[in-house]
Amino acid sequence: LLLSVKDLHIIERLGEGRYGFVDFVRDRQSNKTFAVKKMTSTSFAEGERRSMMEVYVAIKSLHCPYTVNFYGAMATDGELWMLMERMDISLDKLRQNITEMEGSYKIDERIIGNMSYQIISGLFFLRSEVGVAHRDVKPSNILINKGGQVKICDFGICGVVMSDSLTKSNAGSTPYLAPEKLVPSDDIISSSSKSDVWSLGITILEFTIGKYPYRKWKCDFDAIMEVLNNPSPTLPPDEYSNEFNDFINLTLKKNIEERPRYPDLLNKPFITENENVDISAFTQKFSKTNL
Ligand code: ADP
Ligand code: MG
Repeated sequence: LLLSVKDLHIIERLGEGRYGFVDFVRDRQSNKTFAVKKMTSTSFAEGERRSMMEVYVAIKSLHCPYTVNFYGAMATDGELWMLMERMDISLDKLRQNITEMEGSYKIDERIIGNMSYQIISGLFFLRSEVGVAHRDVKPSNILINKGGQVKICDFGICGVVMSDSLTKSNAGSTPYLAPEKLVPSDDIISSSSKSDVWSLGITILEFTIGKYPYRKWKCDFDAIMEVLNNPSPTLPPDEYSNEFNDFINLTLKKNIEERPRYPDLLNKPFITENENVDISAFTQKFSKTNL
């Protein structure tokens, strides 16, 4: 399938990110539809790195059912367009819709157990098969479709293990580095993945209770102080199973040593691969798009 930028016409805007838009488009030649992420300022060093990383991780994840499917990229006037499968809604908008449509916010925890299974599987794939930590796990980077599939997107700031270890050692004098500094070091990979585990915990907790679990501060410094000095947030008492409480409390261990790795998380009883829950019906009810 050969596509040309001029044949793609916009059906609707799907999202707006930090660096450009995501549009739902139709190709006039083939009549096929795609989601296109348009990344601007790709000519700056930082933008170049971001768009390369985005494409690199997308290609390496082609066979993963838990990352958004990638079809190809096109370069146009300093922009890079990424063609991908269209998903129906991101977790942040899903939460807003539930809040608007229901009087009170309460989601069946079995739905959350299965969604968590899919998200952890995606992050574990990135870590074990692609060799990256995502580093930007949050509700707007988790997408759902009406088939009930939950997938991770937005790989622009993924951290390759290699470049992480290089920055940690001495990036300026690469040619002089000892060989052991050039191979992926296991603690560095697992420490950034464990930071993703924390972000996953906050994301799941926020989706469960319907609001960000810390106070929202105007100033970053105050927000940072709150996370550093307060105990980890928890589920509200007596509303959820012990299994769910255990899961949240483990992902939100402030001490990184105590925070579990993905294989441990996947074995927790809260995490269910195919329980009798209908995420598909749930997503259809709360995504307002009618495509
Ligand atoms: P950014 O790097 O700017 O954050 P994202 O890749 O996270 O870009 O996309 C921004 C938003 O666009 C997402 O939060 C989501 O709402 C929407 N979006 C992104 N990709 C898709 C897709 N494939 N299908 C549907 N919506 C998408
Ligand atoms: Mg994003």
